[in-house]
Amino acid sequence: MKIDGKTKLFGIIGNPVEHSLSPAMHNAAFAHLGLNCAYLPLPTNDLAGALQGLKHLGIAGASVTIPYKEQLFDYLDEVDPIARKIGAVNTVLVKESESGRKLVGSNTDWLGSNRALEQAVTLRGSHALILGAGGAARAVGFGLLESGARVSLSSRTESSGRALAEVLDCDWHPLDGDPVPADILINATSVGMQPHDRQTPSPADQLPGFTAVMDIVYAPLQTRLLREAEEAGCRCITGLEMLLFQGAAQFETWTRVPAPVDVMRAALLGAVSG
Ligand code: NAP
Repeated sequence: MKIDGKTKLFGIIGNPVEHSLSPAMHNAAFAHLGLNCAYLPLPTNDLAGALQGLKHLGIAGASVTIPYKEQLFDYLDEVDPIARKIGAVNTVLVKESESGRKLVGSNTDWLGSNRALEQAVTLRGSHALILGAGGAARAVGFGLLESGARVSLSSRTESSGRALAEVLDCDWHPLDGDPVPADILINATSVGMQPHDRQTPSPADQLPGFTAVMDIVYAPLQTRLLREAEEAGCRCITGLEMLLFQGAAQFETWTRVPAPVDVMRAALLGAVSG
């Protein structure tokens, strides 16, 4: 990578960000396409200061992660309507305008989820069951509605589950209740994540009816849920695919160049195993 006076800078704002896989993914894409761009971790305790920094340092764009995704609306000049509906922004574009630099916020998590799923199934007209009612479930849910799929929600805590189901205008079911038949199952809880990788959010005997199962947990890559779904004959999608496609959508927002998805996937796989 060559850094010079014209290098465009991007980064990830959050805290912590040192374990983020995004630098590997985006820098591999820049290098592959010969773009004079670089992507760095930008850890901060001061969201407002960091966003002002984007403008004043001439940084071209940023990813935003925990704990700031829901907190930056007040500091942005424009926000795309679906990010507003989701209530979270994970992508900032610094746009040059006549009146100076503007911060434009969007959300690519829903696109990442949709594109990951569409590798295995047609979403329009299908019925998806989402497990979980946190921030990721909300983005996945809005994405599915955008795609024309029907959604059901199942979660551990009734109050937050019913609240999200109301927002998504869908039915809610307790996580430990009767099986909910659907075409697609998506784990949007953190169940099964390292070091608790022996856990699964769905009993193996409830999996055979699903055409496709996606686990948005990506550490480990092959969760217990996905292992058992594969044994049950379901098409399986790892959480790395959602991470990849949300990153590809960010890359395209910033560069207006089609993302080299295979290069980005290889970089992510290298970073996960390295
Ligand atoms: P969050 O807002 O904290 O929500 C976590 C959800 O998991 C809540 O619904 C919570 O239920 C549920 N949960 C946690 N432990 C549980 C348990 N033992 N049994 C049942 N439900 C449990 O987190 P988030 O941001 O939505 O993230 C969720 C997961 O998705 C994380 O593992 C994150 O790394 C992953 N993620 C992946 C991607 C990707 O691109 N692949 C993107 C975003 C997030 P309660 O409300 O009952 O506590």
